Amino acid sequence: MNHLNSQVRDILAQKSSELAVGILDLDGFKQINDVYGHSAGDHLLQAVGKRLSEILPPRVFLARLGGDEFGLIASEFDNRESLEKLGDKICQVMRVPFEMDKFNAHLGGSVGFAEWNSEIEDPERFFEMADYALYHSKDNKRGSVTIFNQSHADTIQEVSGVARRLQDASFTDEMSLVYQPIVSTLNGKAVGFEALARWHSPILGAVSPDVFIRSAERAGSINALTAILLEKALDDFKSWPEDLFLSFNLSMQDIASAEAMLRLVAIVKKSEFDPHRLTFEVTESSMMRDYDRAMNSLNLLKNMGCKIALDDFGTGYSSLAYVRQMPLDKLKLDRKFIADIETDRNARAIVHAMIEMCNHLQVECIVEGVENVGQFDTLSAMGCKIIQGYYFSKPLNGVDARAYLAEQKSPDEFDHCPMVQTSETLIEYGLFKSKA
Ligand code: C2E
Ligand code: CA
Repeated sequence: MNHLNSQVRDILAQKSSELAVGILDLDGFKQINDVYGHSAGDHLLQAVGKRLSEILPPRVFLARLGGDEFGLIASEFDNRESLEKLGDKICQVMRVPFEMDKFNAHLGGSVGFAEWNSEIEDPERFFEMADYALYHSKDNKRGSVTIFNQSHADTIQEVSGVARRLQDASFTDEMSLVYQPIVSTLNGKAVGFEALARWHSPILGAVSPDVFIRSAERAGSINALTAILLEKALDDFKSWPEDLFLSFNLSMQDIASAEAMLRLVAIVKKSEFDPHRLTFEVTESSMMRDYDRAMNSLNLLKNMGCKIALDDFGTGYSSLAYVRQMPLDKLKLDRKFIADIETDRNARAIVHAMIEMCNHLQVECIVEGVENVGQFDTLSAMGCKIIQGYYFSKPLNGVDARAYLAEQKSPDEFDHCPMVQTSETLIEYGLFKSKA
């Protein structure tokens, strides 16, 4: 790093301001090092360095930072677009398998870049900004490039601050679960509930799950947290009606760890909860970290009788290859598609195609984030059978969820039955061609 820092100082001394620094972090390197040994790991790093030097333009300087990280200094880069292109290219070439003596190494890489501005006081700060951007890529879309902006630093600082507080938190006392109904569009009745974690910290107050889950991942305490939450959820749910399923979120680090998975299996077994009523939700990005290991984890859960849902579908890689290969029972379509479904024909076409795809694959499609009657009607006219969203209910604590169940309308009182949707409704939503 010192060498790179002095290089940056030299370039800046020449009054060249069109400068960016970057960090490349490899995915999958550690596993290869662990399985094939350090000597194979060293050869692989050399192959990575060689491949990079073949594709990098002459004005880009590359150096290994240590571990599986490389530093980059890009001078004379006068616009963001060319920097993004460079980052994309690096990520792309890292995905091409490396032919080693005895095996093919499948890696990936994420890149963070920071552009020079006059407020940057020293090279250390400059690389720190690139590191924030890199973290953003790793957290949000592994295998991609991010160019630094202040919001990346703010988010990461918030997550780190929360991670420090989490270390002193009592998960058993401070963490709780709320439950959001997952509802049939046919009769408006709940078919299951998704358990969602809540943390009320005595010091920070209520912390958003997006932040504390990420913090727990960073602090290495997510496996312990998941185990405690699963125990709580199974305990809460055991007295709920038997025709309801429980959906539970797993983090990337849960499915990447065989030990953590065995612990979860033991919790399910001990609870005596019927595993067929239990769905585990995983995201595509959580599969990316170590695909083989993640598949082993999913198969372990499936063999126990549990169901698997692919969560937030459409936000990450949305790779149909995953949909085909994973032992999926359900696919949860992200709420981003639903927001404009009434006004945007393209959003409707995508959602419709997804619902059809799920029907053909015999995978249950759950549409998330349904907030109003217009969205509900549009979706049920498309043949969507299961939805989740504020239109029916926000997440509820255990007592309120039981009250919700007790107060549900009977199917004949439910006035949104899609069976009464006429072809006019379908024409209106642009899903059916008018004969006229
Ligand atoms: P997610 O798994 O995508 O969960 C759905 C999120 O959408 C929930 O946010 C839910 O409250 C929100 N939501 C549901 N319906 C609507 C709607 O109609 N409109 C809008 N705008 N939002 C809606 P929440 O509870 O804040 O959770 C955020 C994320 O935190 C979850 O996203 C999940 O990724 C993570 N999370 C929550 N609980 C757990 C957990 O126990 N374990 C793990 N690993 N992650 C969790
Ligand atoms: Ca979820």
